[in-house]
Amino acid sequence: MGALDGRSDASSDGVDDYRRRARAWLTTNLPPLEGAAQRPTSEDLTPEVMAANRALQRKLFEAGYAGISWPKEYGGHGLSSAHEGAFLDEASAFAMPDFGALSATTFDICVPTMLTHGAPEFLRRFIPKVLSGDALVCQFFSEPSSGSDLAGARTRATRDGDQWILNGQKVWSTLAHLADWGLCLTRTDWDVPKHRGLTWFAVPCDAPGLTIRPIRQINETAEFCEDFFDDVVVPDTDRIGALNEGWAVTQTMLVLERGAGRRDAAIPPSGPGPMPEELVSLAQRAGRLADPLTRQRLARVHTTDFVGRVLTARIAEMGRLGELNPGLASYVKLFRGTYTPIRARLAVEIGGGPAMIWEGGDAKRAATSLAYLNGRSASIAGGTNEMQRNGIAERALGMPREPSFDAHRPFNEVVREAQNPKGTP
Ligand SMILES: Cc1cc2nc3c(=O)[nH]c(=O)nc-3n(C[C@H](O)[C@H](O)[C@H](O)COP(=O)(O)OP(=O)(O)OC[C@H]3O[C@@H](n4cnc5c(N)ncnc54)[C@H](O)[C@@H]3O)c2cc1C
Repeated sequence: MGALDGRSDASSDGVDDYRRRARAWLTTNLPPLEGAAQRPTSEDLTPEVMAANRALQRKLFEAGYAGISWPKEYGGHGLSSAHEGAFLDEASAFAMPDFGALSATTFDICVPTMLTHGAPEFLRRFIPKVLSGDALVCQFFSEPSSGSDLAGARTRATRDGDQWILNGQKVWSTLAHLADWGLCLTRTDWDVPKHRGLTWFAVPCDAPGLTIRPIRQINETAEFCEDFFDDVVVPDTDRIGALNEGWAVTQTMLVLERGAGRRDAAIPPSGPGPMPEELVSLAQRAGRLADPLTRQRLARVHTTDFVGRVLTARIAEMGRLGELNPGLASYVKLFRGTYTPIRARLAVEIGGGPAMIWEGGDAKRAATSLAYLNGRSASIAGGTNEMQRNGIAERALGMPREPSFDAHRPFNEVVREAQNPKGTP
């Protein structure tokens, strides 16, 4: 995992000094956070909020606190992940730039993937824009007919001199309508087996021919989009990784997406820390703080949260040391996919009726019920629980691979047969 190793090369000397300087800068320059941080939804991310967050990101960039562990030659600071972890640790008490899910897709997944596989000329041009808040990146991976089976992507990229013409459809792209760029998986060779004909591109979200349509959900938010590529032109200089070797890029991206990219996991927790404040106040409001069952539930969340933080830090560290494959990284993704809905249910049980009633517009009070309703999405987003179990079985435990009918056949043959199954007149 090239760039992940590279990013850990820098010395981690002087972290305490760095932390002190960061604290002083944060205190002077950023407003303190009021209450617990809550991830903004698509509705919260109005143009004004996005502009304010971009301005905050620019402020970090100008002060030298953006891209702390990214390579210097691309505008980062080449420091260790421990420096970055120390900064984020201090910054958790302040109002930091928050682009909702786009923060993670940009800074933890897509751009680190680009840093591993992108050409130096592309990175020199692109990374400073990311660091200054002018290039937020979404993921154009999943398609209507390929989600778990990412290698089955059918978005077509056709070469035309120094550029590529993209046609096809993506779906589920989180906050693509608020992003500036997307990291897009395409098929560039249809005559070889599916894993061998893939290529990635960086695509501007305002490219002519690209239509991004938010999908309104039952809870009134629009967290994802469907995206239509109609003759979208992309220069070859915006290709990420080698032609037809996109599966290697995909492996890097999956490792990062499953947890290795978490910048906030650079420093392992020294202990379980305080009880989860929001759940204690839910119990208080319900008059259940002395109830033994409620106390057991609180203890269960408290200890499992700690286990999750340790596991996340361990996987992130293995990523930095280049010791991860997507199968091993699956442990942390499977943890999140299984525990997130359990934690959300425990919160409802702790808070009882009062946790499920709120005045319209009171986002803080609504949070418990919404987390319960949304809890299942963690078992799908970034790869389903079943796919994580497959990955662990095959790549961590060395069990036999699941049988495949299409992995070794030219992809165009597989598609032709799917469209016209044998025996169909
Ligand atoms: C909240 C959220 C955010 C998302 N954000 C993005 C994004 O930003 N960009 C993006 O490109 N995509 C995104 N996705 C899409 C996500 O990656 C896919 O939904 C996911 O990979 C599953 O693919 P699918 O929906 O096509 O389901 P399918 O692949 O059709 O799976 C359907 C069911 O079959 C099971 N299954 C499939 N194959 C196997 C197998 N081999 N073994 C065992 N079980 C199997 C699955 O586990 C699942 O239960 C997001 C999804 C969610 C829920």
